Amino acid sequence: MPGLMERYRERLPFCADDPVVSLGEGTTPLVHAPHLSELVDSEVWLKLEGLNPTGSFKDRGMTCAVSAAVREGAKAVICASTGNTAASAAAYAARGGLTCAVIVPEGKIAQGKLAQALMHGARVIALRGNFDQALTLVRALTDRQPIALVNSVNRFRLEGQKTAAFEIIEQLETLDALCIPVGNAGNITAYWKGFAELDVAPRLFGFQAEGAAPLVLGKRVDQPETVASAIRIGNPARWEEAMEAMTASRGMVRAVSDAEILSAYRLLAAREGVFCEPASAASVAGLLRYGADGAARVACVLTGHGLKDPETALHQAGGVIPCEPNLTAVEEAVLG
Ligand SMILES: *Cc1c(COP(=O)(O)O)cnc(C)c1O
Repeated sequence: MPGLMERYRERLPFCADDPVVSLGEGTTPLVHAPHLSELVDSEVWLKLEGLNPTGSFKDRGMTCAVSAAVREGAKAVICASTGNTAASAAAYAARGGLTCAVIVPEGKIAQGKLAQALMHGARVIALRGNFDQALTLVRALTDRQPIALVNSVNRFRLEGQKTAAFEIIEQLETLDALCIPVGNAGNITAYWKGFAELDVAPRLFGFQAEGAAPLVLGKRVDQPETVASAIRIGNPARWEEAMEAMTASRGMVRAVSDAEILSAYRLLAAREGVFCEPASAASVAGLLRYGADGAARVACVLTGHGLKDPETALHQAGGVIPCEPNLTAVEEAVLG
C-alpha cells in the first residue's frame, strides 16, 4: 500500500511533484469487536492506529508535517511530546534526512517511545517540567530559530490525521459515533475535519483522564496526572476547535478514571485480542462507562500500540509461572 499522501493527494495540500517523506503509514485495520459490541449493545469497531509504522496515529500527521518541512527547505524539526510525537518525528526526520530534537517531560514517557526516539537519532531532551511547559518552550524557540515545529499546532499534522476518518467511512460507509482519547486535542479536531470533508457527521465522544481533564472541567490543569501518559496534558493547544467539533457533532467530552482506563486496557487485550497503550484504552473506557447513547455503530480509535509501554503492561498483567525442566513439572504448570 502506498502511504497516505499518495492515496489521498487530491484531498491534501500537496502537489504531484512535492517531496514525500513516507514510511507507508495509514491503511490501518478497522476490526469488529464482538465482546464490546455485546457489552454496550451496539456494533463496535476498533481502529488500530498502533499499526502505523512507528506504532501510533502520529505518523499520519508526521508524513505531511515532515514532507512540508522538506518542501520549505527546513534542515531540522522539533517537537514537545508525551512520547509518540517524539518517536514519529524522529523516524520521519531520519527518513527525510533532517535532524530532529524532541523535548519530553522527564521520567514521564513510556520506555518504548524513548527507545524509538533515541534509535532514530533524535536529540532527546528531558525537561524538568510537564508537556504543557515543553510545548510553550518549543513554540518560543521556533520563533527564534529556523527549525520546523511538528507538534499538532502545525496545520499539516491535522491534514494528515484527517485521513483516518476517510478510511473509516470508506470501510463502513456510515458511522453514528466515534470514541476517541483527547490530549492536546489535535486528533479529534482532525477527525472532524475529515468527516466534514466527506459530508458525514458522526457524534464525537472525546475522553480525557480524570486527572488531566481540562476540557471537561473548563479550565487548565496545572499538574496533570494519569497512568495514560500520552494524554497527560493540562492545556490542550486545540482546545477551542475540539470543543467546537464536539458541540457541532452533538457529542460530548467526558472523563474516565485511571482504574477504568486500565480495566478497558486489560479487557481489550484479554477479550478482543487487541493490545493498545493505556491512553488509547480511554476511548473504550468511556464507551463502557457512558454507553453508546443510542448510536447503532460506533468506532473507537485505539491511538497507539501496547508495546509502547511494557512497564504498565507487566504491572497490569498476571505473572509468569516458573518451572523445572521435566515433564511432570511442565504438565502441572500448563494445566494449572
Ligand atoms: C497523542 C496521543 C493521544 C492524544 O491525541 P491528541 O491529538 O493530543 O488529542 C492519544 N493517544 C495516544 C497514544 C497518543 O500518542
